[in-house]
Amino acid sequence: MSVYWQAGIRWTPPRPDALPATFDVAVLGAGLTGLAAALAMGNQGLSVLVVDRGRVGDGASGRNGGQVLTGLNPSYRELRRTGGASARSWWAEGAAAVADVAALVDRHHIACDWHPGGHLAVAASPRRWRRLLADAALLQADGFPLDVLDAGAVADRLGWPGYVGALFDPASATVNPYRLTVGVAQAALDAGAVIVEETASRIEAARSGTFLVRAGDAAVTVGRVLVATNAFLPRSVPGFAGHVRRVDSPMLATAPLPGAFVPRLLAGRPAVFEESRRTAHFQLTPDGRLVFGSRLPAGTPSSPATLGAVLRRLLPGLEGIPVDHFWHGPLAITATGLPILGETPRGVRWVGGYSGHGVALAVRLGTAAGRWMSNDRRPAWPEPFPVGQPTPPATEGRRCRPPAPQTGETTL
Ligand SMILES: Cc1cc2nc3c(=O)[nH]c(=O)nc-3n(C[C@H](O)[C@H](O)[C@H](O)COP(=O)(O)OP(=O)(O)OC[C@H]3O[C@@H](n4cnc5c(N)ncnc54)[C@H](O)[C@@H]3O)c2cc1C
Repeated sequence: MSVYWQAGIRWTPPRPDALPATFDVAVLGAGLTGLAAALAMGNQGLSVLVVDRGRVGDGASGRNGGQVLTGLNPSYRELRRTGGASARSWWAEGAAAVADVAALVDRHHIACDWHPGGHLAVAASPRRWRRLLADAALLQADGFPLDVLDAGAVADRLGWPGYVGALFDPASATVNPYRLTVGVAQAALDAGAVIVEETASRIEAARSGTFLVRAGDAAVTVGRVLVATNAFLPRSVPGFAGHVRRVDSPMLATAPLPGAFVPRLLAGRPAVFEESRRTAHFQLTPDGRLVFGSRLPAGTPSSPATLGAVLRRLLPGLEGIPVDHFWHGPLAITATGLPILGETPRGVRWVGGYSGHGVALAVRLGTAAGRWMSNDRRPAWPEPFPVGQPTPPATEGRRCRPPAPQTGETTL
């Protein structure tokens, strides 16, 4: 079973006959982060090589739930606890990120089923509802607009009874994330970037602070490197192990729901996110399917049947509706739930770790990282992240042998 978002689409960048010998910057990873960075750098006049060991959008960016959400992974209560007064500006990053994606889609005419239908954070138990209400009070006091819906109002909005209450944020959206990703890839190509797919790469320190990128058979000298491999950061930048955890998360898309069902359901087609340990999320697609993702109970094998059973328990009445698509994608979970951005002492930079809340943030922070590569002014957010034992980044989990000293240093 294939990824619903990719059905009937096969986008691939033109493969160059030969790569130029030098680029200003190499980007590892052709997801939303790496591609948004490449677009920003191309617009600044830098020459950029993007290398992916898979295909464009084959990571989380082309396989996610398609929810372009305001906010961040941690709740606002948690952020206030850990970040104090900074919580407000961190949360504002999430809202600004959605606006960034909307502007990008508009500017580049990306056909990706962009739908600004808002999002509902729903609570399935009184305990979860009390937590959401506490969040709502803090958010509203800090000037973030939200509607608070009681059980009846949620049932009206969704067409399903059973939720105790919900918060509605009108600023969120839904999207076909694969179409969004290839749209950003096309924009990056138009801005002059070169994208090379299905190519293993390896980075070594070279003379005068430059790097040698071995991409397949080619060897290219670059001035800077940006690592945008998200769930694979621990494999790409040794020293990350323990800071970013990879979790493979399952998703499904049902067959189109029967016509009589649809007008009642999910009025306005919001993104729906359940405030629970399952972190279930779902939405109606333009062709009337439910796209659904959830953690599975511990020890349950991941399959269309087991994920379908979770969906049917959550949303009764879907018995008999087949699962047409089933897939997995790699999440990058950080210890704090916040994204991370930084650089090794030799100037290899990275950004990622959106902890399941990254469609909008990957575009925003990828763009910010692209500007950082152009002007050397580090983005103010996220906070610097200490990486232990920096060594040359290795691909495919292999550690590179440190290169012979050329500049008096042996590590990146
Ligand atoms: C199942 C699932 C559902 C999700 N749902 C949502 C959602 O609804 N809303 C939301 O906001 N977020 C969601 N997310 C999170 C969101 O998709 C990610 O945060 C975001 O797409 C990360 O983008 P990225 O470009 O940093 O990483 P990715 O898109 O994962 O891209 C990383 C790329 O790096 C490549 N790569 C890996 N190693 C190497 C290497 N050594 N060399 C070169 N390339 C390499 C990979 O092939 C991949 O293409 C979801 C994630 C998953 C997995």
